[in-house]
Parts: sequence; C-alpha cells; structure tokens
Amino acid sequence: MASVSYPYEAPVSQTLFDRASVVTPGGVNSPVRAFRAVGGTPRFMVSGSGPYLTDADGREYVDLVCSWGPMILGHSHPEVIAAVQAAVARGTSFGTPGEGEVALAEEMVSRIEPLEQVRLVSSGTEATMSAIRLARGFTGRTKVIKFAGCYHGHVDALLAAAGSGVATFGLPDTPGVTGAQAGDTIVLPYNDLEAVHAAFHAHPGEIACVITEASPGNMGVVPPLPGFNAGLKAACAQNGALFISDEVMTGFRVSRAGWYGIDGVKPDLMTFGKVMGGGFPAAAFGGRADVMAHLAPAGPVYQAGTLSGNPIATAAGLAQLRLLDEAAYERVDAVSAEIGTLVGEALTKEGVAHRLQTASNMFSVFFTEATVTNYDEAKKQEAFRFNAFFHSMLSQGVYLPPSAFESWFVSTAHDAAAVERVAAALPAAARAAAGATEEGK
Ligand SMILES: *Cc1c(COP(=O)(O)O)cnc(C)c1O
Repeated sequence: MASVSYPYEAPVSQTLFDRASVVTPGGVNSPVRAFRAVGGTPRFMVSGSGPYLTDADGREYVDLVCSWGPMILGHSHPEVIAAVQAAVARGTSFGTPGEGEVALAEEMVSRIEPLEQVRLVSSGTEATMSAIRLARGFTGRTKVIKFAGCYHGHVDALLAAAGSGVATFGLPDTPGVTGAQAGDTIVLPYNDLEAVHAAFHAHPGEIACVITEASPGNMGVVPPLPGFNAGLKAACAQNGALFISDEVMTGFRVSRAGWYGIDGVKPDLMTFGKVMGGGFPAAAFGGRADVMAHLAPAGPVYQAGTLSGNPIATAAGLAQLRLLDEAAYERVDAVSAEIGTLVGEALTKEGVAHRLQTASNMFSVFFTEATVTNYDEAKKQEAFRFNAFFHSMLSQGVYLPPSAFESWFVSTAHDAAAVERVAAALPAAARAAAGATEEGK
C-alpha cells in the first residue's frame, strides 16, 4: 500500500462499513467498491442529484464515476424518475411479455445497424455469458479468444487472464473456476493481431468466437489501435468464428450507436448493459438475426430470466435513451475533454509523468510516460501516485473511480460549476501525486 494519508475521516460511512463487513464479505456487493486498491473508508452514498453524490456523512462530491457509466444524464434526472414512477405505479413485475421491453429493443435496434435482434437480460455478465453460449451453440465449437485486461463480467470462462507472454491457454484467475471452464479460453495480449492469427492457426476449426471490449475501459482506457477491430472481424470471418463486441460499457455511452457508431466494424454479436438500463439492472445481447434464431424458444440454445425485460428497468432505460440525442453526446464529449485537459495540465505543472487516454467521452489517466496499448503496459504505471491523487481529490469533494485501472465517466449534468469544483481540487491532488512514494522504497 502506498504512503497515502487519508485527509479526513468519514465516521458514518465507517460505521456502515463495519456493519456491512459483518453480514457481507468484505463489506460490499462488488469488490472495487471496497477501496482496497486505494485504501481508506469506502463512502456510503445516500443520494445523487445531477453531477453530485452525497455521502452518509453529509459530504457532497462531484461524481466522476456515474455508477460506472450508466448515469450519463446525471443522477435523478427528472424525466427518467418520472418514467420510473409511472412504471412502478402500474406494477413491478409480471413474468409475461410487455410493451416496454419491445419499445426498448426497438430503440436499440434502430440505433445500431448490425443489431438485428436483441434478447434482454439483467446484467452485463449474463449478456456475455449468453452470447458465448450462443456462439458455441451456433458454431458447434468450444474455444473462445479473449484479451488480457478486457473484463466481460464474472463469467467463469472469461475470468481466465493471461499468465504472461503470448498465446497462453487460460489458467483460472480465481478459485472456483475449474481448469475445464477456463481451458477453452485462449487469452491473448490486447491490440495484437499477430497473436490472433497464430491462435486461429494453432486451433483450426475449434474457435467459436473472439470476444473483445469494443474499446476497453476496464484496464483504464485503452482504445483499439487503428484496424484492430476490423482485423478481428476479418480473422473471425476467414475462420468461421463469430466476432463478439462487448459494448456493455461503451454502448450508448461513447455515441448514439456506441463504439460501433465510431469505428463502424460490424460484429456478429454484441453485448450491452450499463447506460441502457438507466440505473436499473437491464442488459442485452444481440446481433445477426440468423444467429439469434438459434436462441430458445426460436432455436435450441437455452437462455431465460425471471426478471428479464423488467418493466421498471425497461422504462428507465427507454426514457434515458430517448433523451440521448446528438446534442447530449456533444455535451458529454465536451465536458470530458474539458476535465481531461485540466487533469493533464495540473499533472504537467507538478512534473508528474502521466498519460491521458481517451476513447470518445471515456478517459483515464495512466501514471506513466508511455502510451498504453495493452494490459502489461497498463500495469507498468506508478499506481501509488494515483492513490495519493485519488485521496486528495476525495478529500476535496471529487469522487474518482477507486482504482488506477478504471475509466472516468461524466454526464450531461456536469455543468460549469461542477467542472470548476474539479479544477479547484486538481492542484493539490497533482502535488500529492508528485510527492507520493511507494511504501518500503
Ligand atoms: C461492466 C461490464 C460488464 C459486466 O456487466 P455487469 O452488469 O457488471 O455484470 C461486462 N463487460 C464490460 C465491458 C463491462 O464494462
């Protein structure tokens, strides 16, 4: 752990965290929330409004996480809240089809040309898990190529990460995933088409699909190099495999049509979550109609969900998507560029080696001089500087992702006042980063 001091206490959050730690492993329901990478007390939030979150100790923060992307209109957007309240008043779950899920699917399909059909699910994990099952069922093959540093949810087969070097077979990354589950996963370095060609060559007729984050945001922001996604698509087409673009993070976030709207490479299957749920558990997978036709009840590949297409979640998602017009994306793009520039300037002023990486309105700062194009390079950064930076920002009322390996997110609600608060906090945070030392060195 880095030599970070925690500039102030958060007594109510600490009390809640102590209670949580009794009844929940590690005190949280998703690991990164526990602040283990940065240390200190995770903040328990009680409310959100526009670009701000308020914690249990009554402190307000400019939120640069936005629930890891979904809150692209800011917190408690009045039209989304109204849609949710109207839906709740009609009942919360029917276990039957309903018009809301049709309308949400139509909105998604109308925005993204390769998305001919979708199936709604409740989490991004379910979406990627189901897409891979469908790819295996469709192709009759078993192996899956994924890339080190790409996160696709906690699907057993996708928790395999690379050891080191190239073209290694996946070893389970976590206890509880068996060798059999991970053994059909081939983990390759990101942005390395040669490795992809070599894997197809080594396993002729065995690879069902390649899954990649459309533009990775789960090792920090590491966009695909020019031609990488197109190269993946071509390699899949040549070898009879499906190309799955995971847009759970980028979908409806980086443009009206997600990353597809930016690079135009047509996937066979795509996965979605985060923004499309408007802050509720809604996710989806979809793509080519001839592939989706293999899904139950139309076809033999089974997939189901008690709460899939939930009326509240679909109402929230639809309301949010309908508000996300070109002007909204221009607003989010502009504010993310503004904040990114301010961060870069502050770090430069203090002589802190850093790299601002962007993918449309997603951005993150690597504490290293070199461009980061894959996970090994990402891990070379001086993450201890981020930890000092993070705690300084937190103490000044700016909530960053509690890890140096995550994208930052903004919303249409991040106005000049919110940007000003970020700007005011940056000089001290940059000094903290400059002065940080790795403990024990
Ligand atoms: C968040 C994320 C997932 C997992 O979604 P959950 O809803 O957390 O299960 C999958 N893929 C990508 C690219 C993500 O960012």
